[in-house]
Amino acid sequence: MTVDVEARTSDIDAAYRLADGCYLLGSLERGVTVFNQQVRAHNLAWALWERRKSYPINNVAIIGGGIGGLTMAACLLSLFDARTKVTIFERLWDLSPIQQGADTRWLHPRIYDWPYFGSRAPGASLPVLNWSEGRASDVARTVLREFGKFCDKFAADSDRIAVYLGLRNFSINVSDKTIDYVGTRSKRIGSLFHVDRPEGSTAKFDCIVLASGFGLESGADGFPLISYWRNEQLAQPALDETRHRYLISGFGDGALVDLCRLTVERYRQDTILYELFGDELERVEEVFRTDLSRIGDDANLYELLNRYDDSLFLRAKQEISNRLRKDTSVYLHISGKDGKITRFSQIFGRRSSVLNRVMTFLLYRCGAFSLSFEEPGEFARKNRIEPDHVLCRYGADTLRHLRDMIADHTDLEARLVEMRERPKQVAKLLWQPGVFPNPDSRVD
Ligand SMILES: Cc1cc2nc3c(=O)[nH]c(=O)nc-3n(C[C@H](O)[C@H](O)[C@H](O)COP(=O)(O)OP(=O)(O)OC[C@H]3O[C@@H](n4cnc5c(N)ncnc54)[C@H](O)[C@@H]3O)c2cc1C
Repeated sequence: MTVDVEARTSDIDAAYRLADGCYLLGSLERGVTVFNQQVRAHNLAWALWERRKSYPINNVAIIGGGIGGLTMAACLLSLFDARTKVTIFERLWDLSPIQQGADTRWLHPRIYDWPYFGSRAPGASLPVLNWSEGRASDVARTVLREFGKFCDKFAADSDRIAVYLGLRNFSINVSDKTIDYVGTRSKRIGSLFHVDRPEGSTAKFDCIVLASGFGLESGADGFPLISYWRNEQLAQPALDETRHRYLISGFGDGALVDLCRLTVERYRQDTILYELFGDELERVEEVFRTDLSRIGDDANLYELLNRYDDSLFLRAKQEISNRLRKDTSVYLHISGKDGKITRFSQIFGRRSSVLNRVMTFLLYRCGAFSLSFEEPGEFARKNRIEPDHVLCRYGADTLRHLRDMIADHTDLEARLVEMRERPKQVAKLLWQPGVFPNPDSRVD
């Protein structure tokens, strides 16, 4: 191992290690996107493989069969030899359950990084479980198909990968790397996993990777919780003549995407940038990039966006004004759960992507929605907004989600808080180029 590789792999180990032999994939980082989680999985798998002589691993458990967990599994299967076995534990009844069938959500690998160079490139260009922008359901389908290919190529011996679905009584003991579970073992046929037999056991591993994501989103009392990834009709014109009122509570990416869907006519996440800025897009991006590098990525963007209002944004504002929806009336509740936000300008800190903040600013300037600082239940009652038109987008309580699955979490409390306060799992490509074998190559 060269000095540079050694330094990179030990940095990765330090950033991902929850405890000895137990790693956390991205859950407590900022800006957790599908692509970033996959990059993290490549980095961690590569670091484990580079360090295999000093720290051999033969039996790895991956908690979570989402896209992050599947990428981790496929990376390990392809890098390590057949002696290394991988077990995936997935709480639900299929792999990649969150994005499967999500036809109303669009996924792009890098748009979260807009306006930086390469952020509009449609392909993920990853060596393992690669995909391109599209509906979330299509992305899940591609990833699952690719995962099947990796299993065919690198786990033809059916013992090399085990998948447990529909878990109950699941608990990780980090101190001795054992997992107690009751679940259903599944049998792989291509990219499908058939239910085989229910099983309850305590299994010991020499490495555990927690790829269990953020946890499920939390809602608010009195309103139905509709997960961001479930199909809905918000972007479709109403089928009656009434103007429907909506209240969106929150100002993270989930809330702001729904704000666009409810206020812009014929809104498409994949084309909106081109429609708003047309031929000026590259110039806008260049000015923006220069200013962002000056003020820093963590800055509140409100002042900057205000400066663009009568110059860089003129065309975009005209386009949005022409396309305001006529069948909806939308309120955005932004005071936050603790009521600390009192002004619109305060929501332009780094709580959402730059693109979503730009969209929110433009929509506000065009009068596309009104603000609310009142308690959502009270506001909805006063304004006769139906409960299923109140969208509470509050994200998930990730620390609680992790504590719930780790039996000895009290001993890890300080480390969990440190990982949340000082996230270090950069979503940059750190692995050696060419290291991941291609499952389509004919040479074994
Ligand atoms: C509101 C919202 C909007 C988002 N918008 C975008 C977007 O536009 N673009 C984007 O790229 N990303 C977006 N994301 C993030 C995206 O959902 C995640 O980045 C992506 O799903 C990460 O994949 P993952 O595999 O790490 O986690 P997940 O997809 O969350 O997968 C985790 C898996 O672990 C399983 N699991 C959970 N607990 C347990 C347990 N105890 N035992 C076993 N299994 C368990 C879950 O069932 C799940 O299958 C959004 C997230 C939210 C909440």
